[in-house]
Amino acid sequence: MKQTVSEIKEDTNRLKRLIDKLELEHQLSSDEYITLIDNRNAALSEYLFEKARRVREAYYGTDVYLRGLIEFTNYCKNDCYYCGIRRSNKNAERYRLTEEQILSCCEEGYRLGFRTFVLQGGEDGYYSDSDLIAIIRAIKSSFPDCAITLSIGERSAESYRAYYEAGAERYLLRHETADGAHYSKLHPESMTLENRKDCLWELKRIGYQVGCGFMVGSPGQSTSNLAADLIFLQELQPQMVGIGPFIPHHDTPFAKEPSGTAELTLFLLGLIRLMLPAVLLPATTALGTIDPMGREKGILAGGNVVMPNLSPREVRDKYLLYDNKICTGDEAAECRHCIEGRMNRVGYQIVVARGDAKLINQESDGTRCPSETL
Ligand code: SAH
Repeated sequence: MKQTVSEIKEDTNRLKRLIDKLELEHQLSSDEYITLIDNRNAALSEYLFEKARRVREAYYGTDVYLRGLIEFTNYCKNDCYYCGIRRSNKNAERYRLTEEQILSCCEEGYRLGFRTFVLQGGEDGYYSDSDLIAIIRAIKSSFPDCAITLSIGERSAESYRAYYEAGAERYLLRHETADGAHYSKLHPESMTLENRKDCLWELKRIGYQVGCGFMVGSPGQSTSNLAADLIFLQELQPQMVGIGPFIPHHDTPFAKEPSGTAELTLFLLGLIRLMLPAVLLPATTALGTIDPMGREKGILAGGNVVMPNLSPREVRDKYLLYDNKICTGDEAAECRHCIEGRMNRVGYQIVVARGDAKLINQESDGTRCPSETL
């Protein structure tokens, strides 16, 4: 049955009240998230983004934090069905960076104003704990004013603790999906959601600033799966949340699956900003790949972080998690200047700072800017 204009208006008003509630209370029920996601439209998104921008500006002004991504190995023992560097992809040309190469990426990054280095890679047992500890210590001693973020997958609690003690303070481990049945559609049996979540809780316990996250539009994902992702964020209260659209890779079992959309990714970014007002929220490379203005739009939807690539140019096109990844032909300096221009043109500016998460004052209503930082 066709809705009348006044019925549509009434519906939109009801949805706006749900967004108001999220802004005020920082949480909704699963059904409320589903209602918002399934009934969203352009007017509602604009309403959401405006609020999300207001909240992010209360905490972070118009600053955008930089994280330099160093993709130091594309060897991986895992076989995630969505990922281009999965073990079974025999066409992937594998590489590893040496400690010296990693340090020279940091040197170049430091010159370009980066104060956070993200060491990301496949799950590569070639680097022992003592290798990783040596790399972390070397970076820390050359760049004591910088933060080190690790993104190297699932390891033991003892390993996580040892890296923390060596000087790594942040850890990114996307949970990928918070629904067990959906998790098993995306991963082989050897991987479990339970273990992934345990790792995240353990990282938190140790004292890391933790980032989780998920792909938007991954094969088989339902709206209720997305609601479960949002509820999981409410529980974990991570300092950072990385989300981006799923994009197929031609040499994976999901080669023929459709991509996620920028539009839904942006809507979710807005919701996450209202749920976790002080969160570090990157406008990701995958978002910039699916839409040429994706990163700008991500910032305008409540994002406050960008993660340009600092990997040496000769390995960039080998760290191919999905097809058509942007910036694989660029030098670090080109990426740095490109992103600066992109941010400036939408009224924001890159800052030279570690960019730690702001501490939320529990007493505050979530809209005032706390003075203390972590
Ligand atoms: N091995 C590390 C790093 C994984 S790569 C780990 O397990 O955490 C970083 C993220 O890229 C993944 O967590 C995943 O969410 C994302 N990713 C992988 N394949 C992708 C694809 N085909 N499309 C979009 N994002 C993808």
